[in-house]
Amino acid sequence: MEKGKINVSVDNIFPLIKKFLYSDQEIFLRELVSNATDATLKLKHLCNIGESTAEYGNPQIEIKINEKDNTLHIIDQGIGMSEEEVKKYINEVAFSGAEEFLDKYKDDAKDSGIIGHFGLGFYSAFMVADKVEILTKSHAETPAVHWSCDGSPEFVLETADKADRGTEIILHISEDSKDYLEKGKIRGLLEKYNKFMPIPIKLGMRTETLPKPEGAKEDDPAPTKEVDDIVNNPNPAWTKSPSDLEEQDYKNFYRELYPMQFEEPLFNIHLNVDYPFNLTGILYFPKLSNDLNIQKDRIQLYQNQVFVTDNVEGIVPEFLTMLRGVIDSPDIPLNVSRSYLQADGAVKKISSYITRKVADKLTTLFKEDRKAFEEKWNDIKVVIEYGMLSEEKFFEKAEKFALYPTVDGTYYTYEELEAKIKDTHTDKDDKLVFLYASQAEEQHSYIESAKEKGYTILLLDSPIVPHLLQKLESSKEKISFARVDSDAVENLIKKEEGSISKLDEAQVTALKEKVEGVVKDTGYIIQTEALSSDGLPFMLTEPEFMRRMKDMQKTGGGGFMGQNMPDMYNLVINTNHELVSQILETKTNKKREKLIRQALDLAKLSKGVLKGADLSSFIKRSVDLIK
Ligand code: ADP
Repeated sequence: MEKGKINVSVDNIFPLIKKFLYSDQEIFLRELVSNATDATLKLKHLCNIGESTAEYGNPQIEIKINEKDNTLHIIDQGIGMSEEEVKKYINEVAFSGAEEFLDKYKDDAKDSGIIGHFGLGFYSAFMVADKVEILTKSHAETPAVHWSCDGSPEFVLETADKADRGTEIILHISEDSKDYLEKGKIRGLLEKYNKFMPIPIKLGMRTETLPKPEGAKEDDPAPTKEVDDIVNNPNPAWTKSPSDLEEQDYKNFYRELYPMQFEEPLFNIHLNVDYPFNLTGILYFPKLSNDLNIQKDRIQLYQNQVFVTDNVEGIVPEFLTMLRGVIDSPDIPLNVSRSYLQADGAVKKISSYITRKVADKLTTLFKEDRKAFEEKWNDIKVVIEYGMLSEEKFFEKAEKFALYPTVDGTYYTYEELEAKIKDTHTDKDDKLVFLYASQAEEQHSYIESAKEKGYTILLLDSPIVPHLLQKLESSKEKISFARVDSDAVENLIKKEEGSISKLDEAQVTALKEKVEGVVKDTGYIIQTEALSSDGLPFMLTEPEFMRRMKDMQKTGGGGFMGQNMPDMYNLVINTNHELVSQILETKTNKKREKLIRQALDLAKLSKGVLKGADLSSFIKRSVDLIK
């Protein structure tokens, strides 16, 4: 037996580790299971290259709880360690690793939330244990050794009896960490961190029901069998080749990742690169609503099948964080802060690779089956539109597949749309004007009247659309988007039909005065336009820029932060409308006022802003008028 003192400058680093990493305590199990996995894979490698004569077999990692002794055991059948190796790897390497870790992160890592991602390795065991033992036998058939350490820098090392190759780590769980002796707790941790690790992990036994033997009676109980309870799937879909997977395999894996998700994903993207960085994974496009709220089922990041985090911010471009699935890459540095991560060259490459793959997949889907793609559009547009807005590269690629649906359900690409409207939708400055509605129901009467004029009206209803339109306007020449209830529509009509007014100038002035007299307190800006005689007599429109700002404010940004934009409407009087002529001709003031109010209320009604007392008096007046 040998006693020794571990050579560390801090006299007692254990209490420090314990206190320091308290909130990330649970990672100890991930670290120990990772070590057990590494040890097993190392043996596999040695056997493969003929440097070990050991029988590899079908090794497992076993987690055992001994409640009587308050111990937790992590047992592997891996490479094991000789006495020399324990001295070197545990007493020296692991300790100096722990010390270095503390030195480096004592001051600033606490707040950045990255500690849990960075492996403290073997020594994280002391976060939950008063005493740790190692019982190990090397594959090289050297004598087995027993190492133990009670939390002081002193250790004991002696030869031991252990017949089987591999390592057993025994944790004497401390009084305040007793919950790690509960099977449910351990199972939860294994499912969180080790669900897809490559070596089977056994946690006790479970009962399996077998098929009834032939000729069994109906009420004979089915026979059962005790089998190892394996908590992980050692061969998750993303580690396989896409050519070995069917559509259903991807769907099954989605269910495995998100057991609480009942909705099927729309499609998936299998990621697989090994140069200039290593990355595998599967991303899924879920059905998304217009609600941009943070979702709880997120992309999970793994390193060599070990779960690291489900916060992939900085690694995946922001617009793709709305997707689900798995990314596995050993090349993402995790022992750094988020801001450093984002500046890291390798991470930038990874991020643009993912963007490109997503764009390529969307291009393929669009090309292969446009109809199916159109059907999915509503569920995926938020991601695509957000991507176009935030990633220049994606914006360029999206030209091929981004769709612009009309209110009648026809889907155009930008190019097709431009070709379709270029002869009819130009304003007086020769700008191409794209008319759109943001809400089919609320803007119904505006849509209808623009449709009657033969205009094509898009239905762009996602919350970020105002921002995207801004982007499109600035990146393309001489185009503008105008909402169907904005003043831009009249401008188009004017250009098209000219302004041939039934009324002469004097009549128009007189009309304006009369209307002004009645509506003076409303703050509306009164305009007269010679529009079609079968439109509305009065119409409310909003200056396009005003409306755009309001829309943008709803989704953040756009100026005037924190303060609400005032409403600002144009009251457009259609001088070609019969009722307007009537207003001018009516002799009695009372009747005229009634007509003006009625026309105004109709305009408000179609804009969706007739409410409260105004609505009540409109109803009353309408009854009076028809009775
Ligand atoms: P890391 O795993 O990051 O190298 P650790 O502190 O976890 O650091 O472990 C230090 C070393 O101890 C490992 O590199 C390995 O050589 C050895 N080791 C730890 N656990 C085992 C195990 N279960 N079987 C064999 N060797 C192990």
